[in-house]
Amino acid sequence: MRLTRKVAVLLGVAGIGVVVLAGTVLFGVLGQGAMGKAMVADWRGRLLDQQAQVDAMRDRSRAEAQAVGRQLAQMQARLVRMEALGARVTAVADLDEGEFAFSEPVPQGGPSVIGEAALPWTELRGELDGLARDLRARESQLEVLESLLRNRDYRKDAAVAGRPVKWGWMSSPYGHRVDPFSGKRSWHAGVDFAGKAGSEVIAVASGVVTHAGARYGYGEMVEITHGDGYVTRYGHHAEVAVALGDIVKKGQVIGLMGSSGRATGPHVHFEVLKHGRQVDPARYVARR
Ligand SMILES: [Zn+2]
Repeated sequence: MRLTRKVAVLLGVAGIGVVVLAGTVLFGVLGQGAMGKAMVADWRGRLLDQQAQVDAMRDRSRAEAQAVGRQLAQMQARLVRMEALGARVTAVADLDEGEFAFSEPVPQGGPSVIGEAALPWTELRGELDGLARDLRARESQLEVLESLLRNRDYRKDAAVAGRPVKWGWMSSPYGHRVDPFSGKRSWHAGVDFAGKAGSEVIAVASGVVTHAGARYGYGEMVEITHGDGYVTRYGHHAEVAVALGDIVKKGQVIGLMGSSGRATGPHVHFEVLKHGRQVDPARYVARR
């Protein structure tokens, strides 16, 4: 093909034009693409941030709900225990059950505070408040029972008297002594009765078991509440034979002698508390 010079120049100019145009378009597209990518990355980053915040919030509220749930479960367990205790005390004391129907809900009323659109959280709070109310009501019922029992025959064995062991000897009196562990002068808040490991430890008076299990310094310990402000404690058991809430009679076996906790050998650490303060058990031990 033969080209005229004019045509060749025109074609050349057109060719350059096409290249420049294509280059411009291509550059523009590429530039826009890069900008778009940056924007997407930016938005993605923000979304991730927000997602993390939402996750953190959800974790926090979940932890809070779990804590409240645990509290609720503990209160419910306490209520069940109190109901069982109340039912037993009612039976033992031969009281009119109608007056202290522990298994029935406590009479209560008032307008509902939980609306139709109430949040689960509000419901939970409402339930907690209701439970706290129930607990208070049960507690006051138990107090009434306790005061009723005080004037009954049942109380005759509730006076703290006698020894916490059938066989054994008093190995350490109440008061100041040299601590068998530290060698320093210290206060001994009870009396010790030493004996054969595994021999029977008995309740010195009837009452309700208010602790049964390990306690710091006491080892395996049983605590009995007798009423009239009296409480007795029996420490260092090899084995505890009663459970929390049990009603025990005077002379009943509550555990086996051992040396659990802070003990140099098998013995019972025996304490008498009057209105929350340890007193010398010797005069109670001497009583018949
Ligand atoms: Zn002791």
